[in-house]
Amino acid sequence: MTLESIKGLGPKNISLLNKLGIYNIDDLITFYPFRYEVIKRSDELNLIDQDKIIVDGIIESMPSIYYFSKRKDKMSFKLNTGNNIYRVEIYNRGFLKSKLSIGTAITVIGKLDKKHNLIIVSDIRFGKIEKESIEPIYHTTYGISIKTIKKYIDYILPTYHSKDYIPDYLIDKYRFIDKDNSIREVHNPSNIDYLNSSLNRLKYEELFLFMCKMNYLKNNNKNKEGLKREVSKKKIDELINNLPFKLTTDQINSIDDIYNDLISPYRMNRLLQGDVGSGKTIVSFISLYINYLSGYQGALMAPTEVLAIQHYNNIKKLFKDINIALLIGKTTKKEKKAIYEDLASGKINIIIGTHALFTDEVKYKNLGLVITDEQHRFGVNQRSNLKNKGITPDVLYMSATPIPRTYALTLYGDMEISSIKTLPNGKKDIITTIKKESEIKDVLTSMYRELKNNHQVYVIAPLVNESDKVDFNDVYKLEEDMNKAFGKLYNIGVLHGKMSSEEKEDVMNKFKNNEIQILISTTVIEVGIDVKNATMIVIFDAYMFGLSSLHQLRGRVGRNDLQSYCILISDKETERLNILTKTNDGFKISEEDFKLRGSGDLFGIKQSGDMVFSIADIKRDYNLLLKAKEDSEEFLKNSNNIIDYKDTIKFIKENIGLD
Ligand code: ADP
Ligand code: MG
Repeated sequence: MTLESIKGLGPKNISLLNKLGIYNIDDLITFYPFRYEVIKRSDELNLIDQDKIIVDGIIESMPSIYYFSKRKDKMSFKLNTGNNIYRVEIYNRGFLKSKLSIGTAITVIGKLDKKHNLIIVSDIRFGKIEKESIEPIYHTTYGISIKTIKKYIDYILPTYHSKDYIPDYLIDKYRFIDKDNSIREVHNPSNIDYLNSSLNRLKYEELFLFMCKMNYLKNNNKNKEGLKREVSKKKIDELINNLPFKLTTDQINSIDDIYNDLISPYRMNRLLQGDVGSGKTIVSFISLYINYLSGYQGALMAPTEVLAIQHYNNIKKLFKDINIALLIGKTTKKEKKAIYEDLASGKINIIIGTHALFTDEVKYKNLGLVITDEQHRFGVNQRSNLKNKGITPDVLYMSATPIPRTYALTLYGDMEISSIKTLPNGKKDIITTIKKESEIKDVLTSMYRELKNNHQVYVIAPLVNESDKVDFNDVYKLEEDMNKAFGKLYNIGVLHGKMSSEEKEDVMNKFKNNEIQILISTTVIEVGIDVKNATMIVIFDAYMFGLSSLHQLRGRVGRNDLQSYCILISDKETERLNILTKTNDGFKISEEDFKLRGSGDLFGIKQSGDMVFSIADIKRDYNLLLKAKEDSEEFLKNSNNIIDYKDTIKFIKENIGLD
């Protein structure tokens, strides 16, 4: 069956359904309500104006219809409920008229206009309904009503048959009800208990299959032959002992994890997770060193050019005798050509860059390790891109975004995880305050105090250019303001994403070398940038940002043992921002963000298609997710299941492109 075969569904509405992500019958069936409204049968004697009500009664007057246009009409009649006679109005239901005559018993669902003794009815039911009515609420898009979508769904429901992917023994274990019935119940609820069982069953299936997919990937990866290496531990220790600082315990443990993965015969697929400033970079450099010692090429990919350049400059200082190159978008054609040649011949040992590292032209001689920094910036899809290039190097992902456990399980369920939980010694908490726009004088005074101590300051604006629509502070306006306040004493620079890479690099270098003391920037500096002498960050229109983004921005300061400060300027949402004044713990902050904003648009994590659930919600249904996780692990462990549950296995494999 196709969408076209649904009665009354033409090309115009098909394209609207497409807009909602519905391309076939299965999509339509799994276009589940996103919530339900429970309307209790009303106690008629205690009704309040504008109440949503359900009452039954007998029609007392012939319904009359007024047509606004061909499809738009209003019908009205009198309804006697035994306690009262109401006037009833209902829109666009003219087609019901033949069923309604004086004396007909009906139930109406609607909203009460008490003053006019009027019920604006949204639905009429024939035959008694229970003590409550559960109304499914669907998302919709401009041009097509929920009613219309529902009509299509109801058209196919009676004959729809779906495949059940939950193994029998689990259906028995949880006493799940039949899948087709569940689907019908979810679209047309009969009562709360049955609805809940149905929802539960469909959610479980979705989570179970998802976790199977993740576990399958993880196992598949674990058993995949990787590179065999021999590495002298002594040389690694030597390097570590010669660092200008002592590594933290978590850094050392992470390096151990990575070392063990690298020398193991299996392929590494690991996430290194650690809050801003926890010192992931040095761990990645040491990993590249281990990989180099074992004779392979290594690549480190950063999400921005600014960050790639920073990494390049730092790693070159650390490994003077290793051939290291930088490859980014702005690298000249000629340079690129030389780099491609040297990568193919193996002359380059370590390459640092942006996604320019993995364009089609780039061929490696013997790539052994790929590291992506700020992994969440790339999205989950990028991960498979790497794998699809036909190379099987060990892979390390780094993320400064502390992911709540709930989310980590789904987003990174296919990886091993190492965490750096403590910041390097001597780091002080960043003192964070919230100021109103009207308190700008105080802010400037604080800035001046830092500048006078020969420290540097970041100023962040949400926009590049003034927009006529909104009244945010933009970079250039702030530059003007800062020039008025400090222009005579200090140098001021501007940095934003629309500048060319040369301009960006130039400004960043000047800031690094303290030729610029105040850097006004958009969030391009959000990730990774490390300028130790910067001790204050002032963020304008702070309410525009998610808490986790603000935490990342704040992480630009406090990068050594100098006391650092963050000033959030906002007239709005100060309550939400307040948590930042109370804690520097990225995990706590991300949990809070998670609570406030849900899993929809967390900290700029790029969602990929395989993360979108049609009925489950990883936050609300977390306990179900944990069960599904456990069950999926057990399911995949038992080799008999591959024979007994062919369809389930096939579904899982198809969904990860491994059939
Ligand atoms: P992130 O984890 O946010 O990428 P970085 O790797 O940029 O953090 O490290 C932040 C700063 O801390 C850098 O300046 C780095 O040199 C420094 N650092 C890293 N590890 C240590 C350590 N063990 N002791 C002292 N400073 C360290
Ligand atoms: Mg970093």
